[in-house]
Amino acid sequence: MLSVSLTRLQRRLVALSRFGGLLGGGVTRPAWSPQHEEARAWLITEMRGAGLATWVDPAGNTFGSLGATALASDRPAVLTGSHIDTVPEGGMLDGALGVIAGLECLEVLAETKTAHQRPLAVAAWTDEEGRYGSLFGSRAFCGKLDGASVVDMAAVDGERLADVMARAGFDARRAPEAKAPAGSVAAYVELHIEQGPRLEESGVQIGVVEAIVGVRRSRIVFRGQADHAGTTPMERRRDAFLAAADYALRAREHVVTRGTNRSVTNIGVVHVHPGASNIVPGRAELVHEMRDPDVAVLERLWQECRGLADSVARERQIAVDVVPMSATVPALAAPRVQASIEAACRSLGLTSQRMYSAAGHDAQNLAAITDMGMLFIPSKGGRSHRVDEMSDWDAIERGANTLLHTLLTLARA
Ligand SMILES: [Zn+2]
Repeated sequence: MLSVSLTRLQRRLVALSRFGGLLGGGVTRPAWSPQHEEARAWLITEMRGAGLATWVDPAGNTFGSLGATALASDRPAVLTGSHIDTVPEGGMLDGALGVIAGLECLEVLAETKTAHQRPLAVAAWTDEEGRYGSLFGSRAFCGKLDGASVVDMAAVDGERLADVMARAGFDARRAPEAKAPAGSVAAYVELHIEQGPRLEESGVQIGVVEAIVGVRRSRIVFRGQADHAGTTPMERRRDAFLAAADYALRAREHVVTRGTNRSVTNIGVVHVHPGASNIVPGRAELVHEMRDPDVAVLERLWQECRGLADSVARERQIAVDVVPMSATVPALAAPRVQASIEAACRSLGLTSQRMYSAAGHDAQNLAAITDMGMLFIPSKGGRSHRVDEMSDWDAIERGANTLLHTLLTLARA
């Protein structure tokens, strides 16, 4: 039975981790950084060495292909891939695994001259981690990038996307031209680490993704009254921070008790104004995020939390504004791609279970233009987005072999 080379996978994963590699382990390789651009050049060399045709689109997505020199509507390709950018102080597998395993699968098919009816391609999508814009490259590829917004995109530290793209030799205004020709992708399947503890805890080898969660973020601004923190009697204070704290506790309780067992919520940004120890807070801002794989549940929770913010404000006699910031809808994996992954697991003698992805992925954009699927391997201790992110090499090999046979099935369809 056709299988990948673990030695080659290992060599490439370790080689890639050196671009932006940190002393003591881990990787910092943000999109468009010099380290990222060196990694891209290295990847293209590896792809060519493996016998693939390569190209880079105007959004910076890097492709390696077997059987085609570009994506075209008259010969739809089966696509795999992931990303080579990382979060600051991230690990060596998030994103890198899907790209390197995809390259390995195509190399195995090339060297064994295995027949496949459809062209096959591996993609490294730009800025998945969203330093400048979340899932930037796959959004552009799927025609979801608003050309007018590109010029204003910047990192939180103020670095402008247009500047870093120019430094790397790209024109940001042209990024929307990365849009794939209609009908040029027959299917998309992505291998990724789970980034959570569920597979490891259940002792299952492969996770078959049914859906990627939708994420809703809103800014909640409580407006009370700034006052002298010494002279104002306690009963007269209209403390915006206390309203925000009350809301934070009650919103969490609400999502835990009224959501599904898959709903999660987080308040990770809090600003208190004017922010002095001797002033009663006049204004408090929160960024509230909620996730669920079911769009109806997510919408209901959002509406209910909105109502909760109103009641907290009313009880405390202060004002509140709830401003929607972003909303992605859950993306469903195509049944035929899930079935192909499960068939690959059966033929390789691997255990699998269906699950949803609690993290966002480029695959959710691909779902809008083609049949999408994802497969997960266990993450050690469920750890990810940290320097000690790891999976067993055996698990990596199993994941890559499952990807190989899934791609073969999809390329024959
Ligand atoms: Zn990732």
